[in-house]
Formats: sequence, C-alpha cells, structure tokens
Amino acid sequence: MSDRPVRVRFAPSPTGPLHIGGVRTALYNYLFAKHHNGKFLLRIEDTDQKRFVDGAEEYINDSLAWLGLTIDEGVREGGDYGPYRQSERMDKYAAYAHQLVKDGFAYYAFDTAEELTAMRAKLEANKMSAKYDATSRMSMRNSLTLSEDEVKERLDRGDKYIVRIKLPRNEEIRFHDIIRGWIVFNSSQLDDKVLLKEDGLPTYHLANIVDDHLMKISHVIRGEEWLPSAPLHIMLYRYLGWEDTMPEFAHLPLILKPDGKGKLSKRDGDRLGFPVFPLEWHAPDGEISSGYKESGYMPEAVLNMLALLGWHPSDNTELFELDELIKEFSLERVSKSGAKFDQDKAKWFNHQFLMKASDKKLLEMIQDQLEEKHNSKGEDYILKVVRMLKEKVSFASELLDAGDYFFNAPATYNEKVKNKKWNAENCTNITNFIGELVASKKSTSQEMETHLQDFADSKGINKGSMMQPLRWAVSGQPGGPPIFEMLELIGLEEIQNRLTIAKEKFPV
Ligand code: GLU
Repeated sequence: MSDRPVRVRFAPSPTGPLHIGGVRTALYNYLFAKHHNGKFLLRIEDTDQKRFVDGAEEYINDSLAWLGLTIDEGVREGGDYGPYRQSERMDKYAAYAHQLVKDGFAYYAFDTAEELTAMRAKLEANKMSAKYDATSRMSMRNSLTLSEDEVKERLDRGDKYIVRIKLPRNEEIRFHDIIRGWIVFNSSQLDDKVLLKEDGLPTYHLANIVDDHLMKISHVIRGEEWLPSAPLHIMLYRYLGWEDTMPEFAHLPLILKPDGKGKLSKRDGDRLGFPVFPLEWHAPDGEISSGYKESGYMPEAVLNMLALLGWHPSDNTELFELDELIKEFSLERVSKSGAKFDQDKAKWFNHQFLMKASDKKLLEMIQDQLEEKHNSKGEDYILKVVRMLKEKVSFASELLDAGDYFFNAPATYNEKVKNKKWNAENCTNITNFIGELVASKKSTSQEMETHLQDFADSKGINKGSMMQPLRWAVSGQPGGPPIFEMLELIGLEEIQNRLTIAKEKFPV
C-alpha cells in the first residue's frame, strides 16, 4: 500500500433507501479508513435528478448515524473538499470534458435521437453490437467525422451536443483490484460513454472520477456491480493525466439471497420476512419497508453481522465490537465470492449483543413497552427480570412477554408438564415445602435451595421431581431462568397465591 494518507468515500446516489449491501460498503470503507487512521467521507452522488427520491439523503445520514459510523467529511459535517453533494458542484465538471476533447481523448457528438436509433438498427441488422464505439463512431455525426469548420459553426450556433470519451479500438485495459488481483478488459468490450450531457451536466462517470481526484480519494471501495465501469474509470484517469494519484480499487462481493441464488434485492426482505434496510423506509408512494432498528436489532449486532458477510478475521472469532473490527479489518481478507445472507445468524448476533448489554440499557430499549403492571413493581424489580431473561430471547422487545409471569399469574400453562408432572404427590410435596418456607421465613434463593434439599432428603425423594412442577405452577412454563432466583424475585406470598390458582385450575 502506498504511504499517501488514506481517504475513502461512501458515494451513494439518493435514489431510495440504503440497502444493507450499501450499508456494508459504507462499513468496509469506514473500517478501512479507521484502521489506517484515515478519513471517511460521505459524498452524495445526485447528478441524475430524474432518479432523485425525496428523503433518501436524510435516510442515508440517519442510517449511518444509527449504526455509529461517524463521518469525517460530508454534507452535514462539512470539510475542506466540499461541497459534498454533487448537485452543488455542477460548475466543476464541464471544463474537464472540454479539456479531454482538446487533448484528443473525447469528442463532441451531434447525433439526433433518430440518427442514433438508425445507427443501432443498422448495426443490429449486420449482427454487430449496437454500440457507439471505435468502429461505429466514424459513421456518425461528431467532431471526429465533421470538418473543423463545421464543428465550430455548430458550437457557435448553440447546436445541442454531448461529449463522449474516445476509447481505443481493441486495446487491453489492465488494473489491479485489491480483492480480485489483476483484471483485464479489452477496450472493444466498452463503448464511448457519454461524459457530458446535452444540458451541460456531467454523467455519473465523469463526476465520480473528477470528485475522487479533487477530494484526494486514496482507495475506492465499492460494490461488485461497479466492476464493469472500472476500465472506463481507469481510462479517464489516464486521459486526464491523473494516473499517478489514481486511487486503488477494491470491488466487494455481492450479498446473496439466503438460498444463494442471486443478489439480495430490495424486494427480498419483506418477501422473505426479514429487513434489508437499516431503518424503516416510508416511500413517497406510501409503501413501508421494514428496518433493522424498528425490528428490534441493536446497531452493534447489525454491524457485526454485516462485517462477516464477505470478510473473515484471521481466526474463528465471530463476535466483534466496532473498535475490534477496526483493529482486525483488512481488504485482503475480503472474499471474491458472494456471501449468503442468513437471517438466523442475524438473530444470533442480536442475541449475543443482548446478553452483553447492561440491564439498564435493555430497560431503556423497552421503555415504551412498560405498562402499569410493570411499573408498579418498581425499576429494581424490572431490572432483575431483564437480567434473568436476557439469555432467553433474541430481541429486547421479547423480554416482557417472555417474563409476563413475573408480573401476573400465568395466562396459560404448559400442557406437557401438566400431564407428566402435576400429580397428587408432587402437589402435596410442593404445598408443604412452600408452607415450610413461609413458616421459617426462608425467602432467598440460597435458603430455598438448601431447604428443598433437606425437604427431599427427609421424604426420601429426588428434589428434581418437585422442581419442574413447582416452576410450572408459578410460571406456567416448562423452563426459564434459574428456578430459585425466579422464586426469590416473585416472592413467597405470590408463590403461595399461584399455587392456590394452579390447584383450583388443575385439581389432582
Ligand atoms: N454513486 C454510485 C452508487 O450509487 C457510487 C459508485 C462508486 O462508489 O464509485 O453506488
């Protein structure tokens, strides 16, 4: 790697919500920048006003903010190389296109729409590909085929024109990709792409290259779908005389559908039952697509999951906080082949981060779910419920449901336990055991546990035979957190109450 300062950019077009593939591109750019003490830029590529979608730019900013991917230079943050929105840089591009024409690397094309259609039809009739390129351009109306005088006359007259790059015929274009190694295209696979449009505005390609140059971008890290554009970009750097400071390229692999058949698309998420967007998206037409945030995912979990979709660390570690990812990340360990999206794995990551989160943080996450029945128990009580159950759920939003019996007598009772373990003998033993705890005021989990052992020994029974029906009578559940901790929290008085209810409902 060269020793120039690392400056990378995430350069989305605000044409809709940011798909998780785009989020992963942002993440890898961020990790790479931070690993090398470099800068992470956000550039909004909105040259194509026809595809502009209201709210999309704000959505991009909000998504990165939710994930904690701090932007060093961008539309909101400012910076020395602004503006960072291409629509505000429109005065910068045309001069480069004209310079290219002057240097013989581009040309003015005056063809009308009808002429272009006729050219395509003719080429197709001759079984040739219908491209405006080194072969066909010589039979078209442009500054290569018209006389100098006529070109000048047309320009002076204000005739409409576009600027096209003049690519060589049948020449190898080689470039190095950090992930894929050497890549070779032949120029005859390409066409003479438009650089400047009729309205004098740049196309994506010209604006992208000019901005990467002016913003001193050192590495271009972007999705595989941009690989076919790379040879054109290489030629632009060469023709503009910027090859020396050309960024290094890294084209990331695709994120595939769970079955591995094709790219994970914006439509797949709600079709297959998982979000593909970081935040819920409200489209201008009213359609709503689900988001990771609103589905209860923690941003740390989403980042960890995305980091491993296409990149692997040097060992088998799977759990990473953002600072650990920064330390470990390298483009060399990004794979060439697509990575299958796995919803269960996404949930697993969330579960892991839920277990790591403090009880207080989880309480904050469920604040708006708290009802009177919860609040009446007090914060300490709810915090203990959260602590006991966080290992049992994938999402914070499931905590209160899973632990409803900490606040209410059970609404339902597990059938299997009832049929197998709820019998006269167990019922009597449990009733007597709880009666003894009340009489002797043994209410801590430790005291209960010791007393159960003594109780079972004195009766010559196995204490295990009493534990599951006891849990069941109190919670209705077949399993849950450690039983004595659960009993201590619910308290002896309420346990007795639950036992009475169970006996009334299910007489033995
Ligand atoms: N504006 C392009 C996009 O929407 C950026 C491609 C690039 O990173 O060069 O993905």
